[in-house]
Formats: sequence, C-alpha cells, structure tokens
Amino acid sequence: MNPIPLHHVWDYRDIDRAFWAEHLEGWMPPRIVDAHTHVTNPAHRLVPMTEEKRRQYWVAEVSEPIAAEDAERCHAIVFPSRQVTCVAMGSPDLDFDIEAGNEYLRTECLARGWHALALLRPQWTAERVEAELAKPSVIGVKPYYALISPDRTTRDAHLEASIFDFLPHHALEVLDQRRAWVTLHVPRADRLGHPKNLREVREIRRRYPHIVLVIAHFGRCYTEPHAREALPPLADDPGLYFDNCAVLNPAVHRLALECLGPQRILYGTDGPVFYMRGRRQWQGRTYINRTSYPFFFNREREAPEIEGTYTLYLYEALRALKGAIADLGMGKAEVEAIFHGNAERLIARANNSSGKTG
Ligand SMILES: [Zn+2]
Repeated sequence: MNPIPLHHVWDYRDIDRAFWAEHLEGWMPPRIVDAHTHVTNPAHRLVPMTEEKRRQYWVAEVSEPIAAEDAERCHAIVFPSRQVTCVAMGSPDLDFDIEAGNEYLRTECLARGWHALALLRPQWTAERVEAELAKPSVIGVKPYYALISPDRTTRDAHLEASIFDFLPHHALEVLDQRRAWVTLHVPRADRLGHPKNLREVREIRRRYPHIVLVIAHFGRCYTEPHAREALPPLADDPGLYFDNCAVLNPAVHRLALECLGPQRILYGTDGPVFYMRGRRQWQGRTYINRTSYPFFFNREREAPEIEGTYTLYLYEALRALKGAIADLGMGKAEVEAIFHGNAERLIARANNSSGKTG
C-alpha cells in the first residue's frame, strides 16, 4: 500500500502497519485515553517560525502545530479500530495566541468528548483561573516555564525557574479548591531529580492535596540515570501521578512500573511530535534521536538498511512499554489501567468536583 500522510513531514507506511500487526494489535486495549497530546490551530501563530529558530532545538524542527481534526485523523490511522479520547493542551509557546488557543481547544474538545487543559499564564489572577476552570470541557491547566515571559533568542530563558514561578500559589489555591488536573512539565536541566524540583513537588502535594497532579514525561526522565534520581524518592506518595509520554527507554518504563506501580501511570503520545520516524539511543545522561528525514539536527545518519527498518517514535515508545510490562510479569489489568483506567478515574474526579458534565 502507498504511504498515507500523517502530519508535517511524516507518513504511515507498510512497515508501520506490519509493526502494529506484530506488536500492538493484540496488546493494546479497545479504549485508549491519550492523556498528553497537543492540539493547536496553526492560524493562532503570532510570531512566524524562522529557520534560525527551527535550528535551535530538535523539537522546534520536528514540531508543527496540529489542528483537532488532523489529530483525530492521525489517531485513527496509528491506532486502527481503537476508540481514542484525549486530554489535550495547546502549544505552550508565547509565539501563539494563548487565549485564542485555549478557546479553540476547549471548543474542539467539547465537540469530540475530549477534555482540555488550559495553558496557564502565571500573570492570571485567581479569578481568571477560576473562570477558565468553569468552562465546559476544561478539567485543569497546563503550566509551563516558557509561559512566564517571551524570549525570542532561546527557549530556555526560564529553564532554571522555580515551579512556583510559572505555577504560582494563588493559582494552586484555586486549582486545589476546584480539584483540578495539572499536567506539570518540570523545569531545570537536571530534571525531576533536582533537589529543588523534588522539594517543590512534595510541597504542592502537601499544601494542595486535592489537585490531580500529573508529572509529564516521568519528570523528563528520558535516560535511566535521570529516572533513578527522580522516581524512587517519589515512590511513597500514592496520590502523585505521572504520564509516560515521549519516553522510549525500556529501562525507564521498567523502573517507573516498579517504583510507582501501574495505577499511577497514564499513557500519552505527546503528539504530534512523535509521528517522527526513527529510534532513540542512550548514553549515560544523554540521548540521540535517529531519524531518516534530512533535518538540520540530523547530522549523524545511520546506514540506509537500518533507516529502512525505522517505524514511528510513537510505536517505539509502545514497544518499550510493552517490554517492560512483560519483563515484570504484568498483564491485561495493568495495561488497561495505563491506557485508559487511570485517566478515566482521574478525569471523573476532576470533572465531578467542578460540577461539570462535559
Ligand atoms: Zn508535551
């Protein structure tokens, strides 16, 4: 069969169909909640993307905003005959119109029975946060350090910020009262294991225990050493959740399953970036993304016969998760918890408490 276009420069090929049939068709449950996916109207870009900016960081080069109908279409291609719903958020980037993006997202989510996380500006008043949470289909917020203030020269101007600089206490108070959902992408080059991150996450849990707190990407622990620093110290808090999106490393999935247990892990795709084709390799605390597309960042290509075996990063992440689950002797119940049960339970919690039905 001919390749089917997915998004940006990506497509879906016979090798992906074969991968699905061999590894995933019999393993993934009929229902999937993608608890971390980005949906953005491309028309809401305020500042044009430049070549210079694209080349700063691989994510800028591979990511293009995906509209809701395209996100839905791509989900149907990569998860054939599965019922997929999303907890979606916009692009946390001040080059986009944040207000219009939030409004677009929640309207599109409402139309599809999905749930929306509003991008949170730390400048918002408590009343403003409250008003956002009252809107149908909004179950919580997505704060991010790049939403503190714009910086045209680097995406990392606020990387070393405190969590409370972009998720301030007055917002946390409202989020706690409303029992809202927060997907938290932790700051700092040292990732979740940085002592200040561990301290601040514990402080949020202690002071705002009613928030559904989901740490994104296992705390940005994409390598095993990072995961070993971050996950064991937080193992003893059964009310702290994590999403596993963008993690391709089998050892990280395994450690997370051992430390946190399958009841505290939510599946996410981090779409649309992970329609990228290739594989990731790790060395110590670093990794390299291998891909067959001639991006600027893609300087160290693998041999054509290896590139010919590449499938989607999204599928590689699932292969890693599947291997870890099998290694630990876990089965259907754990798989269902991760792919939909945990998210459904937490969505119901965030929804009911705010008195909404959407
Ligand atoms: Zn993300």
